[in-house]
Formats: sequence, structure tokens, C-alpha cells
Amino acid sequence: MAPGLFKCVECNEDANELHRDYSNGILKITICSSCKKPVDKYIEYDPVIVLIDATLCKIQAFRHILFNTEINIHWKLCVFCLLCEAYLRWSLLQGSQASNDPADIIRYTKEWEFYCMFALAALDLGVCSLFFSSM
Ligand SMILES: [Zn+2]
Repeated sequence: MAPGLFKCVECNEDANELHRDYSNGILKITICSSCKKPVDKYIEYDPVIVLIDATLCKIQAFRHILFNTEINIHWKLCVFCLLCEAYLRWSLLQGSQASNDPADIIRYTKEWEFYCMFALAALDLGVCSLFFSSM
């Protein structure tokens, strides 16, 4: 990655590096000049922990995934989050009619309302993205 493209996960300040690699094999995490915390604490964390924190909607985990990694699965994460959001909205619509019968799960995937909730969640995400990108 080019210098200056990293972001502090705590305060969103630009950073030139996430860690410094000394010649004797010692790595030292870079401290943010703005908030005085590690620029990206998640570089030491297991990816599962990062995913759990992202599921818990921690902004630091989102900043790590979006700004400080070179993974190219952002659109997959976006679709996954939209599917989760659509399922939550759809399950709230179903109310007390939901059951644990596996046959119902297959039937539920054919529910037109689920796809409407997915479209609504995608629309919400698009509007929020436009709003926050203009700030
Ligand atoms: Zn910072």
C-alpha cells in the first residue's frame, strides 16, 4: 500500500504505516499522532475476532477492514451484511408465525417479502453512503 493510505481505527486520522519492522525482527505497532493509541490494534488479532467485532458494529473493526487491509471482498461483505439485515427485517415481519421446522426455512427463502426487505436494506445503505460521503 502507498504511504498515507492507512487510517487510525480509533480516530480516522491518516497514517503512513501500521507497524515498523526493525532489522532484528522486532515489530512495533505504530502509535497514532492524534489520539496516542495504536493505529490499528486489529493487525494482531485473529480474523475471527475482527469479524465478531464487525458483527457487533464496532467502527474500529470496520475501519480496519475497509482501510487497513488489502482484501478484495468488500462487496461480498456488503452483500452478507445486507442479507443479514434483510433477514432481521423479514423475521420481524413474520412475528409469531416463525417456526424452527427446516421445511419452513426453504419456504421462507421463496418469500417475496424477504427480497423486498433486501432491496429496502440496499436502498438504506445507498442513501446512508451518499449522505456520509457528502460529509
Ligand atoms: Zn488515532
